[in-house]
Amino acid sequence: LFLGCRYQSTATASDSGNPPPPPAEKYEYQAEVSRLMDLIVNSLYSNKEVFLRELISNASDALDKLRYLSVTDSQLLKEAVDLDIRIQTDKDNGIITITDSGIGMTRQELVDCLGTIAQSGTAKFLKAVKESKDAGTDNNLIGQFGVGFYSAFLVSDKVVVSTKSPKSDKQYIWEGEANASSYTIREETNPENLIPRGTRLTLYLKRDDKGFAHPERIQKLVKNYSQFVSFPIYTWQEKG
Ligand code: ADP
Ligand code: MG
Repeated sequence: LFLGCRYQSTATASDSGNPPPPPAEKYEYQAEVSRLMDLIVNSLYSNKEVFLRELISNASDALDKLRYLSVTDSQLLKEAVDLDIRIQTDKDNGIITITDSGIGMTRQELVDCLGTIAQSGTAKFLKAVKESKDAGTDNNLIGQFGVGFYSAFLVSDKVVVSTKSPKSDKQYIWEGEANASSYTIREETNPENLIPRGTRLTLYLKRDDKGFAHPERIQKLVKNYSQFVSFPIYTWQEKG
């Protein structure tokens, strides 16, 4: 079980923002992330549905981390909410929302975890892509390696991550778009969007991928993946 995203930060963003809430701050992706995003956005990969497996596995990891760390720090559970994963679909607007009540991310963790990659797996992936390009072959590499969080961009034009760590008294919004070299982070100030703890991902699906927001489609995929997840997963459809 990994308890961080294994990246030693050099960034300078901090949690010490003074009121009133500062405007969104813009950050450049680490070069490797930009390369990975380019590959994902421009891929003709046909098994795009792997995005759901990756995002459910992140939600499950976040719940595992919370459960594990709370053994020695019961304060992490001070918000009494169930440990679960909720997936909401809005088929009319082509939006999928995935919410977990796990460990969440501080502002610094958003920068470290979603703006950089320090994983050997991803480095290997990028190397394999280069080799297969040089060799003129295409081996479904995205499917073989799994590209984690960024697989959201297989199907999304825009991804919004709103997250509340029990270590921070503020909730933050990370927002990224396909084909962009930067992302933004701002404080969540809309009371309607506040969550007690955890992470909510909102996927704004690409025009051709809006079919993933159909409840039957999501339920079928969830059913396949949920066997490997030890937390309940609920799905429901937004009323039109
Ligand atoms: P991996 O899961 O292999 O570490 P990902 O690209 O899937 O790689 O995720 C990168 C990191 O972002 C995770 O390690 C984690 O620190 C953070 N993260 C992603 N999703 C969540 C989530 N739902 N809750 C908390 N942290 C998350
Ligand atoms: Mg992951």
